[in-house]
Order: sequence, then C-alpha cells, then structure tokens
Amino acid sequence: MAGAIEAQEYRGARRRLVSLLQDQGVRDLSVLHAIDEVPRHMFVPTAVRHRAYEDSALPIGSGQTISQPSIHARYLEVLGLTGKEKVLEIGTGSGYQTALLAKLAAQVFSIERIAPLLERARDILRQVGASNVSFMLGDGTLGWSEFAPFDAILVGAAAPEIPPAYIDQLADGGRLLIPLGGRDEQTLHLFTRKGEILEQKDIAPVRFVPLVGKHSWES
Ligand code: SAH
Repeated sequence: MAGAIEAQEYRGARRRLVSLLQDQGVRDLSVLHAIDEVPRHMFVPTAVRHRAYEDSALPIGSGQTISQPSIHARYLEVLGLTGKEKVLEIGTGSGYQTALLAKLAAQVFSIERIAPLLERARDILRQVGASNVSFMLGDGTLGWSEFAPFDAILVGAAAPEIPPAYIDQLADGGRLLIPLGGRDEQTLHLFTRKGEILEQKDIAPVRFVPLVGKHSWES
C-alpha cells in the first residue's frame, strides 16, 4: 500500500516535471511521453530520491552524475528519433537516459566503464521492463564495432575531440551527439554524417563529467 501511494506521489511530481519541460520549450511529444513514463526516482540513489523530479543534476555514486532532465530532453529532441533506430550510448551511468532511449528507438547498445554503475543500471532496466537494451562493460571511446553502423551515437561524457571510432561506426545520415571542449566546460555538438562529410551544429554550452579512455582523457 505504502508503495502504491509512493508511486502515485512520484507520478504527480513527474507530471509537473513534464509541464515544466513543455514550458521551457520542449515540443517533441515522444520525448515528453518517454519522460512521463520512465520512473526517474528509481534510477537515483535513495538519499536524493525526493529530488528525482526537480530539474537538477544529481549524484549517482562513483563520482558520476545524472544530468538534469532538461538536458536529457534537449539531447533527445535534437536527435529526432522515430522508433526505428539502432542507437549507441556511451556512459550508461544511472541508466535513466538508457531507459528513455529504449522507448524512443528500436535497439539500444550502452557502454559503461564503471562496473557497479553498470550492474545497478542493468538491474533497474530489467525491473522497468526494457528488453531492447544490450550492455557492455568497457572503454566506450572504442565504440562497439560488432553492432555498427549506428543511426545515432550519444556520448554522455565530455571529450577533447571526437574519438575516431564514432565516425567509423556512424551510419550514413546518422547523428552523433557529443560534448567537446575542456574538462570543465564544453559545447554540445550535433554531427550528421553525409557520406564522407560530417555536418556540424552547435547545440548548447554544457558541463559533463569527463569521458575517460584510450581516445579521450586519461583517468
Ligand atoms: N546519461 C547518464 C549519465 C552519464 S554520466 C544518466 O542518465 O545517468 C557519464 C557516464 O560516462 C559515467 O557513468 C562515466 O562512468 C561514463 N564514462 C566515462 N568515460 C567512459 C568510457 N570511456 N566508456 C564508457 N563509459 C564512460
């Protein structure tokens, strides 16, 4: 019973978050619908659960953070997924964005380098019934060649430059979203592959945790 009341309370808070995102200008109905359906509170540690539906970044353990919901919304809106795509996500983290992607795309491949985060995310995604997600523990700067090419690649951590594997593993017409810049501040870029050309669009100034790996910063 307590669980049911709690779920109801979170549902109300989630509705308010969706309205806030709409007020901020998020228009993509499939993105708003996914945010309305995914229980963000399950993906954050118990100590910060009461803040799960604020528009804030929150700590998720191992020195990592889950981005604020408006960033996720923006991120997903610029990708314009139709439900048919094969998507590569770098940096599973809490698994919250993975759960959103599972609703917005056909297949999701997600890589995380920190084992406890990956195990937790995998467990919660199972609980919420996402069955179209494959996980890998490892260095996401190498991509996941076995399942390439991808229609979209989302990098949830910041790099000094594009790791070459992402260009190799991006389908023609595919989109790569990646924060590029210094360790403390970056710009979120959207690259669209047109044959051998990469079209570039700057989306917003952002602050992400560093991408740590062979083709990015060292730990
Ligand atoms: N979008 C996530 C938050 C990601 S935080 C969410 O919804 O919770 C960024 C994540 O990228 C962290 O978990 C970090 O461990 C991971 N990461 C950093 N470098 C990585 C790499 N080379 N390969 C895979 N994951 C990496």
